[in-house]
Amino acid sequence: MKIDILTLFPEIFDVFEKWSIIGRTIEKGLFSLKTVNIRDFSKDKHKRVDDYPFGGGPGMVMKPEPIYEALSSVKSDDSTVIYLSPQGRLYDQNLGKLLSRKEHLILLCGHYEGVDNRIIDNYVDMEISIGDYVLTGGEIPAMVLIDSIIRLLPGALNSEESYIDESHYNGLLEYPQYTRPRTFNGEAVPEILLSGNHKRIDKWRRYQSLKNTYMKRPDLLEKKDLTDDEIDMLNNIKKAFSKKKMIRK
Ligand code: SAM
Repeated sequence: MKIDILTLFPEIFDVFEKWSIIGRTIEKGLFSLKTVNIRDFSKDKHKRVDDYPFGGGPGMVMKPEPIYEALSSVKSDDSTVIYLSPQGRLYDQNLGKLLSRKEHLILLCGHYEGVDNRIIDNYVDMEISIGDYVLTGGEIPAMVLIDSIIRLLPGALNSEESYIDESHYNGLLEYPQYTRPRTFNGEAVPEILLSGNHKRIDKWRRYQSLKNTYMKRPDLLEKKDLTDDEIDMLNNIKKAFSKKKMIRK
């Protein structure tokens, strides 16, 4: 997989591309990350990339020509062009899975009031938002997409299970995790995790995963196809726990 980021602030990615799993995945040759500075494509003698909005109003708008030229410098038939935008489809794990199967992603990061709409209308395949709030630029959203997508690339994580069990991969939240010491401030870890009985541990984790989802994100259960076994577990959970007691403020 190849990812090109079109941005006015390529230096923001200097640390990011070396960081943790992202750096290791690049080193392993599983994907490549490149930044393209949109300003390099400005033909203006002052390298301007923004201008006042037609019709008036506050702020500046990113001009279409430098974006078009930057896009053309990296685009091929295999490319999917994504504009990070608060107006886009809300990003989630399923969309991440879909994008992780693409050959080449081009992530366009906006700034100021955003980009000239003719770019979105004619050259963007998908607008993606990371949440219903407005950020200063598309760089942090681009990092969010890249980080979550890379985790799904075969070979990126040490064991495939690391993402299969994780929250949202299969529509549920993950079970609780514990590590040493066995007792911390008087509280012991659940006894079953020390039993060495992996069948019982798996069953306990499935129950806890359903319980976590029911307590914290019951909306996720509406979209999830549960097995008969899981339906039984969930019914027991509903009987045993009051939602009001557990949902965090
Ligand atoms: N004027 C735009 C609007 O109201 O829709 C917001 C522009 S915002 C200040 C500047 C840039 O940040 C956007 O062009 C976009 O690339 C990025 N951005 C801001 N919030 C975002 C979000 N929630 N998800 C993805 N990108 C976002």
